[in-house]
Amino acid sequence: MIIVPESEIASLVTPEAAFDAVENVFAAMARGDAYNFPVIREAIGHVDALYGFKGGFDKAGMALGLKAGGYWPNNLESHNIINHQSTVFLFDPDTGRVSAMVGGNLLTALRTAAASSVSIKHLAREDAKVIGMIGAGHQAKFQLRTALEHRNFEKVIGWNLHPEMLPNLEEVAKEAGLPFEAVELDGMKEADVIITITSSFDATLIADHVSPGTHLACMGTDTVGKQEVGVDLIEKATLFTDEVAQSISIGECQHAIKSGAIKKNDITPLGAAINGDHKGRTSADEITLFDGTGVGLQDLACAAAAVELAIAQGKAIDVDV
Ligand code: NAD
Repeated sequence: MIIVPESEIASLVTPEAAFDAVENVFAAMARGDAYNFPVIREAIGHVDALYGFKGGFDKAGMALGLKAGGYWPNNLESHNIINHQSTVFLFDPDTGRVSAMVGGNLLTALRTAAASSVSIKHLAREDAKVIGMIGAGHQAKFQLRTALEHRNFEKVIGWNLHPEMLPNLEEVAKEAGLPFEAVELDGMKEADVIITITSSFDATLIADHVSPGTHLACMGTDTVGKQEVGVDLIEKATLFTDEVAQSISIGECQHAIKSGAIKKNDITPLGAAINGDHKGRTSADEITLFDGTGVGLQDLACAAAAVELAIAQGKAIDVDV
């Protein structure tokens, strides 16, 4: 079994490598070559932790496995480690033998940022110049950095419920040599692309805050009850997602499905647009929305890339199990 420790991920997996891995696996999912298993997420009744598994099998990439982990709210205070903890396990699809154990914390941020950037590549207008951020926490920095690496945006605007966190976004904009402006929600009308990445349980962004032609990547809602955008905006947009089953149950579309505003068939896997089976954006005025719920196959694809890079660079730890 190959071990790739958390401490090696930063030097191995570039945002570019994560982007390629995620784009390929979304395409494989839409072709029916890869599928995600149902998600398990449990409150374990100890230290308020939420623990679970996201797994799947990608026949095209021959990646079989799962990410195990979750959220331990007291970690930072009590143990000085981050609250989100996860590890990816890969198995040999031919024999079932465990083949790799890969640190999953940074990988999660990289694969989540890759997903929104893949959606921007395939759904945003070519002439998009202003990117808007709703959310300024841990994931937001990765989201913005990856998006700026993939498109030539000219300006970053941001809104956050806790404005004291906005310097996080300004710092990333500065790194890319771009101006940053804090705006009210109404100011998001200036954005051509908007990423939402908050832990909100109520709609923040509504249809009135968004201009025609905008692409939205809604990345924060990954649990029953969470919500970042209004049902009115979902109703107005052409909808894409990583995994329809997750979008309607734990993703941003869960509320519009529940209220009957949309049906399951209104949501298209992003992979279909990548493969050319769906035309994606069809006009400059269309609002497109990617509901990024986060699938196990993203983790497996990025972990498999990490293993390959670790072996190539002599950083893999090989142990007998
Ligand atoms: P974080 O704690 O670092 O940041 C949370 C952000 O949400 C901050 O900007 C905060 O101001 C904002 N926020 C908190 N409460 C809010 C509220 N009631 N209304 C509006 N905004 C609020 O968290 P993070 O690690 O950046 O994660 C952000 C979200 O992304 C979480 O919901 C997390 O579960 C989700 N996430 C999704 C994926 C995926 O694949 N889709 C992957 C990782 C994390």
